[in-house]
Amino acid sequence: MGCLAVIKEDPKNTETIPPIIPRPVSLKTTKDSVTLQRFSHILVYPEIPETRFIADEIKKLLLPVIDIEIAPSVNKGKGRIELKINSKVSENKEGYSLSVSSRRILIEAPSPSGLFYGFQSLRQLLPQDLEKGIEPQNTAIAFVEIEDYPRFKYRGMHLDVSRHFFDAEFIKTYIDMIALHKMNMFHWHLTDDNGWRIEIDSYPELVEKSAWRVDREHENWRDWSPIQPKEEPTYGGYYTKNEIRGVVQYATDRHITVIPEIEMPGHTSEVFAAYPKLSCKGDTLDVVPGSYWPNKDIFCAGNDKVFTFLEKVLTEVIELFPGIYIHIGGDEADKTNWKECQKCQNRIKVEKLKNEQELQSWFIRKTETFLVSKNKKLLGWDEILEGGLAPKATVMSWRGTKGGVESAIRGHDVVMCPTSHCYFDYYQADPETSPEAIGGLTTLKKVYSFNPIPEELNDKEAEHVLGAQGNLWTEYVKTNEIAQYRVLPRMTALAEVVWSPERVTDYDDFYNRLVHLQDRFDVLNWIYAPGSFIVSMQADDKKGGDEFRIVLSSEKPGTPIKFTLDGSTPTVTSSQYTRSFTINKTTQVRAALFIKGNQAGKVSEKTFYFHKAIGKPVEYLIPHKQKYPGKGTLSLVDGLKGTSHYNDGCWQGWEGDDIDVILDLGERTLISKISAGFLESVDSWIFLPTNIAVSFSMEDKEFKNEKTTQLTDAPPDSPPERRTADFSGINELCKYIRIRAKNRKVCPEGHPGSGGKAWIFSDEIIIE
Ligand SMILES: [Zn+2]
Repeated sequence: MGCLAVIKEDPKNTETIPPIIPRPVSLKTTKDSVTLQRFSHILVYPEIPETRFIADEIKKLLLPVIDIEIAPSVNKGKGRIELKINSKVSENKEGYSLSVSSRRILIEAPSPSGLFYGFQSLRQLLPQDLEKGIEPQNTAIAFVEIEDYPRFKYRGMHLDVSRHFFDAEFIKTYIDMIALHKMNMFHWHLTDDNGWRIEIDSYPELVEKSAWRVDREHENWRDWSPIQPKEEPTYGGYYTKNEIRGVVQYATDRHITVIPEIEMPGHTSEVFAAYPKLSCKGDTLDVVPGSYWPNKDIFCAGNDKVFTFLEKVLTEVIELFPGIYIHIGGDEADKTNWKECQKCQNRIKVEKLKNEQELQSWFIRKTETFLVSKNKKLLGWDEILEGGLAPKATVMSWRGTKGGVESAIRGHDVVMCPTSHCYFDYYQADPETSPEAIGGLTTLKKVYSFNPIPEELNDKEAEHVLGAQGNLWTEYVKTNEIAQYRVLPRMTALAEVVWSPERVTDYDDFYNRLVHLQDRFDVLNWIYAPGSFIVSMQADDKKGGDEFRIVLSSEKPGTPIKFTLDGSTPTVTSSQYTRSFTINKTTQVRAALFIKGNQAGKVSEKTFYFHKAIGKPVEYLIPHKQKYPGKGTLSLVDGLKGTSHYNDGCWQGWEGDDIDVILDLGERTLISKISAGFLESVDSWIFLPTNIAVSFSMEDKEFKNEKTTQLTDAPPDSPPERRTADFSGINELCKYIRIRAKNRKVCPEGHPGSGGKAWIFSDEIIIE
């Protein structure tokens, strides 16, 4: 061991780190290596189907270099690969150890799944050409000693096959992707409004009718043209039971559990194309070729035939999927029809329920009782919390982590997949240069920053967090290529989040290894996104006053950032960013990434404004909402203006409340001009204040000489915009300034949020 270098001491040196993702718990290596030609045999103890499968996979991989023999024993002196079940290697059933030395590659694990993960690490140490069946030029493999085990036991990827259909062949590719990343759960979203995708013998019309819709593939998902009378449904597809058995076996061989999802009570309108009597209204519906909102057509909770249907469907589903979890959806069920339905209202009365929320809860509990009787566990989206949680349910927390926190505190198991970090249908780079996505922006770096354990949980509660999952909804994912593009490499970042110990490494180190792994994706013909080329700019919070310290960064460490401070466009000859720098006057910073002398991505620009209130204390007479804190307590006086995006991190938000703040300038100061920034983003329920007032005071905080102004609302359908309320020609000597902005309180009539609380957002108050 004496000459083995501990990798942790030199995380930035890519030369000596075998670039394994997820990063192992402990990895030691030396400069020594052994060539693959030395190995002649694979030994397997004990030889059972699961270990034999791994041996066969290794044999297949090495075939371009050597036809290795799988044998029970081997003569001394020959190089060998050994796969050994050994319960002493790790306390974690999925743990393993891997050692490469001059005569032996040894993988040991307490279970076959551990051996499989050891093989995935070995695979990443081997030349990638092998993946394509090509003999690599260099057949050397570095000496390593790896001890490894996962941080979480649930490491999942999801795929929606209803919005768009993906054939069984692609599902197996998707499982290959999950396997390489040492993830172990595949959540298969098999049913939804846009198509039923699983063959059920008891209800043959589900695949004859509910699996097919009219083709609107060339139209926008949210804005499809109406279905014509007698128009033939031609888009769709489904999996036969044989195909499903094939997928499940393929996944099982790779130590991946397949979790089928059968949606209820909402997201079920496609069922009513075949079996209309199961809805409250009983109308025969077409399967919709695009967005379907709100989902009013849901299962009738008052009709016993619905439960006969669901129990028969679930019985057949359970026969196909041996895993412990059955996902029953439970999300976004609009209760409008339940309120009007005689049968549903009758059920509420008979079961002594309070309202429709409790009716949903009753529905889910009834389903859980059935699943438990079949020795299965119910998994559902966090809406299943509403109206009371079923006793043994496991919750998938997607609307942030709140539902997950609540469930864990109540002692329920939780899988984290908040939209903020785990929704891989969102953009991962500048929308202008990306294939159309549903919206949002979740960069690779953001995914990597995710911690599945929310701060609110104590250690005991945190044990209920089983892990996390990346979700791929497919409204804007029409092809296999786009599906891969959306998840790679974000699932790579998530794989490391759920496997590697917390804070074992950092983003830069991950990125250096990712670049290597992407070479392997290329060989495997897996499509991945190039990522974001945006340069982000931040002023160091602790500075303020006389100068700003500016930090530039990107998602691509090692790629040069060129920048200017004079407003000119950065070029390859502009200054190269090496470390943070300070500025002491209003400055426009412009920066871009350059790859091989060419600008990559757009120029980022930000102006840091100097004014008389920079870094001065702000007293909030009415607090802003926790959810929109901007950049913290100095956000209104940090020299940074927000963009037209309310969630860009610069905006503070007040919901239904006025803004009322006092700026403390620290000493008597002569004021000539005030300019306060507000956001108008009506679609996001953010309105301009109806009135803005400023007033002034000396030491006594008796505010006088109030001035007011109003802003005019933009015409309807205007895009979001930053607006300013300006007060000029002031001429006041004062120590304190009070700024008040009146909230209209509620969204106006005709607005989708009519009657709901209106927001006002402010980013900066410039005092000159
Ligand atoms: Zn009903």
